[in-house]
Amino acid sequence: MLNFLQKFKENLTAKLNEVLSFGKKVDEELFEELEEALILADVGVDTTYKIIQSLKQKTKEEKIFEASKVRELLAQEIYEILQKDVEPFVLTSPMVILIVGVNGVGKTTTIGKLAHLYKKQGKSVMMVAADTFRAAAIDQLEVWAKRVNCPIIKHQEGSDPASVVFDGLQSAKARGIDVVICDTAGRLHNKKNLMEELRKIRKVIDREYSEARVETFLVLDATTGQNALQQAKIFKEVADITGIILTKLDGTAKGGIVIAIKEELNLPIRYIGIGEGMEDLQAFDAKSFVSAIFQ
Ligand code: GDP
Repeated sequence: MLNFLQKFKENLTAKLNEVLSFGKKVDEELFEELEEALILADVGVDTTYKIIQSLKQKTKEEKIFEASKVRELLAQEIYEILQKDVEPFVLTSPMVILIVGVNGVGKTTTIGKLAHLYKKQGKSVMMVAADTFRAAAIDQLEVWAKRVNCPIIKHQEGSDPASVVFDGLQSAKARGIDVVICDTAGRLHNKKNLMEELRKIRKVIDREYSEARVETFLVLDATTGQNALQQAKIFKEVADITGIILTKLDGTAKGGIVIAIKEELNLPIRYIGIGEGMEDLQAFDAKSFVSAIFQ
C-alpha cells in the first residue's frame, strides 16, 4: 500500500466506496455524485467530464446496471489516462536534466532526492546551480550537494545562468559524469525572460554536449491542486517539458491532480515527492497509483 496517499485515499476512496457501493443503481444521480467526488479530489472539471462521459457510454454499451461494477470501469479509465502515450523513463548516460518550476514547489529538494536516487543506481551525478536569481537557491542546493555527496558547479548570485551551465558541462565532460542536474530560476511572472533564459541554457547544452540526452522536468506542488495545472500550462508554452515531478503528494487530499495533469497536458508523470527526506522520491507507477485508490 502507498501510505503517503493516505489523505488522498481518505478523501477519494472513501467517497468512491460510498458512491459506488453494492446495490446502488447506475443512473443520472450516481453519475452526479461521482462527478462531485472526482472534482473534490482535484481531478479537474474537464477531465472529470471526460471520465463521466466515457463511463456513461461504457455502462450503456456493456449493459451495466450495478454501481459497484462501475468501480472497475473507473479504475480502468484512470489507468488508461495515466498510461496513454507514456514511454517508460530510462536513465541513460550522458544525460542532462533541466529542472524547472516556480519557487517553493520543491525544486531544490527534488534535485537532492534525484541525485541521491541516481547515485544509488550507480551513476555519477553533478548539480549545476543555474538559478542564479536568488542567493538562497544556490546555498540550499549546496546543502543538498553536501548531503548526498555530489559535486556542484555554482557562480555568484546574479551571474548568467547559461554560463554556469556552460561551466557545469565542461566539468561534467572532463570528469565523465553520467547525469548533470541543473536547477533553473522559476520566474513565471516574466514569461518572456524565462523563455529566453531557458532557450539560452538549452542552446549551450545542444552546442557543448550534443551527445547528452536532455530531459526537462517540471516540478509541481500537488497541494496547490488546480494552480499546479495552470502553472504547467504556462511552462509548457515556454519550454519543451518532457516530464512532470509532482511533489508533496504526502499529506494532500488533492492527489487527483495527477490525473488532471496527465489528461490535460499529456505529459508523463515521472516522479512523485512523498516527504522532505532524501529517500522520499518515487518513480511514478500508474498501476500502483490506481490500485492504491481502488484497493
Ligand atoms: P524550491 O523553492 O522549489 O527549491 O523548494 P524547496 O526544495 O526549498 O522546498 C520547499 C519546501 O517544500 C521545503 O520545506 C521542502 O522540505 C518541502 N518539500 C519539498 N518536497 C516535498 C515533498 O515531496 N513532501 C513534503 N511534505 N514536503 C516537501
